[in-house]
Amino acid sequence: MTVYAMPNITTPGRPAIFNPEICDGCNTCVERCPMDVFIPNPEEGKCPVILHPEECWYCGTCVNDCPRPGAVKFSWPLNQRGYWKRKSTGQVFRA
Ligand code: SF4
Ligand code: SF4
Repeated sequence: MTVYAMPNITTPGRPAIFNPEICDGCNTCVERCPMDVFIPNPEEGKCPVILHPEECWYCGTCVNDCPRPGAVKFSWPLNQRGYWKRKSTGQVFRA
């Protein structure tokens, strides 16, 4: 069977960042994501494909349920990340 999957246009949000050195393409995150943000990579053993990043709820399940620590990292949208401001200069630091 041939499956065609077209990612939505690029959005500023990128909910998950995979580490191809650690991820073995087990697809647990694909199965557990409640919003179907990912699909399995057509190449066996490779990181899943992020198909619909804008539909992420930032629930964290993909990272929490991954059996290989470090294989996927959560990436908060910029406007939801914690930040610190240096009082003296006003310089902003983001997490
Ligand atoms: S990120 Fe984790 S859960 Fe997802 S495919 Fe890779 S190893 Fe499996
Ligand atoms: S944070 Fe939740 S909704 Fe977003 S990609 Fe991960 S599992 Fe899916």
